[in-house]
Amino acid sequence: MELGELVGRRPFPAAGLLLGLTRRCPLSCAHCSTGSSLSVREEPDARRLVRFVSSFTTADRPDVVMLTGGEPLLLPALVEELSSLARAAGSRTALLSGMFFARSRDVPPPVLRAIAGVDHFSASLDAHHEREIPRADVFRAVHRVRETGVAVSFHLTGTGADDPYLADVTRAVDEEFGGQVPSLVNEVRPFGRAASWAASARTVPEGGAVSPCAMAAWPVVAFDGTVLACCNQDTVDRRPAPAHLSLGHIATDDWAAVRRRALESPVLRMIRTVGPAHLAARSGVPSRGASYCDGCRALGSDDRVAAEADAVAAGAAGALLDLTAARRGAAQGPVGVVRHHGCAAYAPLVMAGSTAPGGSR
Ligand code: SF4
Ligand code: SF4
Repeated sequence: MELGELVGRRPFPAAGLLLGLTRRCPLSCAHCSTGSSLSVREEPDARRLVRFVSSFTTADRPDVVMLTGGEPLLLPALVEELSSLARAAGSRTALLSGMFFARSRDVPPPVLRAIAGVDHFSASLDAHHEREIPRADVFRAVHRVRETGVAVSFHLTGTGADDPYLADVTRAVDEEFGGQVPSLVNEVRPFGRAASWAASARTVPEGGAVSPCAMAAWPVVAFDGTVLACCNQDTVDRRPAPAHLSLGHIATDDWAAVRRRALESPVLRMIRTVGPAHLAARSGVPSRGASYCDGCRALGSDDRVAAEADAVAAGAAGALLDLTAARRGAAQGPVGVVRHHGCAAYAPLVMAGSTAPGGSR
């Protein structure tokens, strides 16, 4: 599965599932929004994760399962088991790694076996990571991963279109891999890495204007096993989770229940189609919180919001509204998705063989 295919599914509700396997990570990147290190042992119970993924069926499963962290490859046997279970139901898996294993000359066999079992592998690279693992080592490890036949990509982060680091690293990836390895380029944001497959920095829109949240599309399994409706790291981490953004828990719920809640909640449909600020305004609820997401998290405490969402987005009409918004989000293809949610100038790189700004290809 190539990066473009994965990103192209991002706008569709419940087309994907993000699994945070562990908050632990051997690296200590300065910008780490999940607060990961080797000393933070916080991870869902492995048996519950296995049970949850075992509940996928060929008729009801996510198209894509994203294995994230922390560093998911600290649990290579679990990665192998989950990707094999997901594949049996017809789901494909993608894994995002901080590349700690590139420190060794050879990729450790359990890590290589785990990578060979997924359908897409993405390597994180940015100025902070490069202080932990030299770029040349990351490139060497990615060459080794490509030899297994797994589709690979880079996940690059910088400060924006004018960041000289992004110009340099995209040129280096292009030269090293002959334009055959795509990159998802994002700007540094207050989101976790799970979100960074297509996250957007949001400000509160003026006067409750329509400003849909595409991040409420794919459920996220947090490190304590709670399933959230979106991948904003504050929402993923805070407890209690806001009721309207909580989809259950892997200890008690299966995929069918999580998917049904994600797809059928009128409030989530409104968040995806018109955004939280507009929903608040049309419900007669004063906007709360300093940010777009703060305002969203506050919505669940007001009955007027649920009543308004029910009136507009319940039933078949609400489902159609939701699907129409997702199709609109996907209409420009993967490049359009990244242009909207990632670093727009580098959006074409989501497809292999594309040109970076000022590039020579
Ligand atoms: S590799 Fe990722 S998860 Fe690990 S410390 Fe760096 S940013 Fe955090
Ligand atoms: S607006 Fe709401 S659903 Fe969207 S990312 Fe923020 S908290 Fe999550």
